[in-house]
Amino acid sequence: MKKLIRGLLDFQRHTLPSYRATFARLAKGQSPDCLFISCSDSRVVPNLLVSTDPGDLFTVRNVGNLVPPAAQGGHSTADRSEAAAIEFSLGFLPIEDVVVCGHSSCGAMKAILAGGAVDGSPNLEHWLGHGKVSLKKLRENTRVGEGLPDADRLSQLNVLEQLEHLKTYPIVRDRLAAGTLRLHGWWFDIGAAQVHAYRADLGRFVPIDETEGDRLLTALSDEQPSLRAVQ
Ligand SMILES: [Zn+2]
Repeated sequence: MKKLIRGLLDFQRHTLPSYRATFARLAKGQSPDCLFISCSDSRVVPNLLVSTDPGDLFTVRNVGNLVPPAAQGGHSTADRSEAAAIEFSLGFLPIEDVVVCGHSSCGAMKAILAGGAVDGSPNLEHWLGHGKVSLKKLRENTRVGEGLPDADRLSQLNVLEQLEHLKTYPIVRDRLAAGTLRLHGWWFDIGAAQVHAYRADLGRFVPIDETEGDRLLTALSDEQPSLRAVQ
């Protein structure tokens, strides 16, 4: 905790002056254009990775970056927290893109791979059950994550599965059909500090390096202002 207090004081002394105007503007309201869904893992740091400012990302984080699907009527089949965040951000904020970001060496994926049993943690064990559907894909899809350890392959497949779960929500389906929303699958390789993006045309994740970044930026410019689902 001392690290947090010292960090807070350091922020107030050295960083806050350059953010005062930003926070003064944000006090009137937020207008993020991206819903970012990632694992709670401490090594995944969305704002740092994409150099965003306060107010840029509406963020949902949970163990395993899971989005339990909706059933009839758009009601979540699990905890309502993720579903509420989806409905709020897509319904009341100017969100144009949803990113689901998994990561390497994910403890949740390792646990699911090991059978999903977590002694003494009934809530965690139940929650990880939502990732078991991704486990089936591990045997069916050998292209995604080819060459990676099974837990990392599962993590990439799990990202794609959550994108499908997102599409079970009426508000996501409607926005995709209207061409006002894009879904993106990302994966963070912690050791290399490299973010990968899923390329539907290649059927696998590729690093967002200078070349891929330029390609993505060109594709986004070409399709504006009419957004289109890229996943
Ligand atoms: Zn994780």
